[in-house]
Amino acid sequence: MSKGNISVQAENIFPIIKKFLYSDHEIFLRELVSNAVDATTKIKTLALKGEVKEELGDLKIEIRIDAENKTLHIIDKGIGMTEEEINKYLNQMAFSSAEEFLAKYKDDAAIIGHFGLGFYSAFMVADKVDVITKSYQKDAPASKWSCDGDPEYTIEPHEKTERGTEIILHINDENKEYLETHRIKELLNKYCKFLPVEIKFGTKTESTWEGEGKDKKEIKTEVDDIINNPHPIWKMKPADLTDEDYKSFYNELHPFSQPPLFWIHLNIDYPFNLTGILYFPKINNSFEVQKNKIQLYSNQVYITDDVKEIVPEFLMLLHGVIDSPDIPLNVSRSYLQSDNNVKKINSYISKKVSEKLYSLFETDRKGYEEKWKEISTFVKYGMISDEKFNEKASSFVLLKNLEGSYFTLEEYKEKVKAVQTDKHNKLIYIYANDARAQHSYIKAAKEYGYDVLEMDTIIDNHFMQNLEYKGHEVTFVRVDSDTPDNLVQKEENKESVLSQSEQDKVKDIFTKSVKNLGLGHIELKPLAPSDHPVTITRPEFMRRMKEMQAMQGMDMGMFPDSHNVVINTNHPLIADKLIKMKSEDKKADFANYLHDLALLNQNMLKGEELSTFIARSLEFIK
Ligand code: ADP
Repeated sequence: MSKGNISVQAENIFPIIKKFLYSDHEIFLRELVSNAVDATTKIKTLALKGEVKEELGDLKIEIRIDAENKTLHIIDKGIGMTEEEINKYLNQMAFSSAEEFLAKYKDDAAIIGHFGLGFYSAFMVADKVDVITKSYQKDAPASKWSCDGDPEYTIEPHEKTERGTEIILHINDENKEYLETHRIKELLNKYCKFLPVEIKFGTKTESTWEGEGKDKKEIKTEVDDIINNPHPIWKMKPADLTDEDYKSFYNELHPFSQPPLFWIHLNIDYPFNLTGILYFPKINNSFEVQKNKIQLYSNQVYITDDVKEIVPEFLMLLHGVIDSPDIPLNVSRSYLQSDNNVKKINSYISKKVSEKLYSLFETDRKGYEEKWKEISTFVKYGMISDEKFNEKASSFVLLKNLEGSYFTLEEYKEKVKAVQTDKHNKLIYIYANDARAQHSYIKAAKEYGYDVLEMDTIIDNHFMQNLEYKGHEVTFVRVDSDTPDNLVQKEENKESVLSQSEQDKVKDIFTKSVKNLGLGHIELKPLAPSDHPVTITRPEFMRRMKEMQAMQGMDMGMFPDSHNVVINTNHPLIADKLIKMKSEDKKADFANYLHDLALLNQNMLKGEELSTFIARSLEFIK
């Protein structure tokens, strides 16, 4: 037996390992199983190259709990290590890299979660670690290395005859949970589910049936419980996969979800290596942000489900898997954002998504329109937040009008430009955000020959603003933002049937009875006799300011609720009836009543005012 000291430079780092990595103890298992996978992959490679001639045999990795002795075993049949290699890899290299790692990152717990300390993370949970190993090299004797948590280790010969390595962790009292089957199973599921070598954890019972009729009997057999799927479909060729394969993989990742709308298989090996599958989930109008639904793997080892820096923000709503060994995991978040590979990965994913959407749009416009309700959130959010995507999406983003027809930006422009170009040569797009509530406004707009778009999701306000700002030369106005004649401002001289003094009189009557206009005003307009006598409008600009304020949770006082009251001086109820009334009281009453009707039409008559209005109406009917 020989003894040695692991490091020369440092004081004991084991207490540091235990202390600093407190929150991420569980990653030790990922690190050790990954090492076992590496060792197994290496022996396979050597065999392929002909450097190992013998039959490799069963290469399963086994995880075993020995509750009685309080040990956890990780056993592989990989390349193993000679005594010399133990010295080199465990005593010198692994140790110094662990030490270096801790010195650099001990203050950044987030990194540690992404990137382990390798072999030495075992000491986070174990008081003592044994490594029993036998190299694949001919006649190499097996050795046992032991270290009990200080820099001293021992190394001695061992009687192991099979090639490979067994790591034995003597789990300490604070970490007893790692001796429990369900806990280990949970961790294997989280970190090792798609590792490329079969991993056995215990056994399970399988039943088969033999015989017929009365003689039929169940045969139960104990078989290895393999916890992982070593060939996840993201590593396969799309040509070899069916829709069913993609759907059932989705189900494996997100049990009990609705089936995805469609998916994108990512596969690139230059200038960086990345594979994966991104699914477009079914999300409804709610725009409920379901983050952390994309899992990041590095060579099939689970790393994290927090992919903020790697996936463009608007695609965080997608589900699925990304696997790339080229994402640097041992760096801080701020560095990650500026990393060149990460930037390229980001734009690669964004490009793939826009290509996919474009091809759906091109090849199956009808199907695309049917899915639009669900896709639109991604597309609109993407256009707002990602310049490049915005450019590409301009050709496949759709506008939907109240008749339920869909148009590309180009198509819509063609449709409305003749009627909806204003006197400044600007295109005006008219929209409703609540078609039921805005019914009479919509009806009025249509009578003017205008088309009305449906913009009824939370993201639509931002989306419209985005189109206005990004050079599409359109202005959006809500259908109730002005009187219908003025939604699209035209050069027209309309005459009022009332004389100026009569108009002043009308204005006077209304000024006395109308209150709570905020920053709005009373306006007289010679509209068509068929338009409403009094209309409440909510000027687009003021309303948007207020909405923005509300979104940002700011003080509502700054922009009071404002609206205009527009009086149609050509309407017979004004031009004839009101003007000819004898008593001032009657005039005021009548004006009030018309104003209340207009408020009612805008759903603004509430509470006591509504009750009074109803009572007065009943009085009238009598
Ligand atoms: P890393 O895996 O990042 O190189 P580790 O600290 O995990 O660092 O391991 C150090 C080295 O020890 C490995 O590179 C490998 O050569 C050796 N090693 C660790 N575990 C095994 C194993 N199960 N079988 C063979 N060699 C191993």
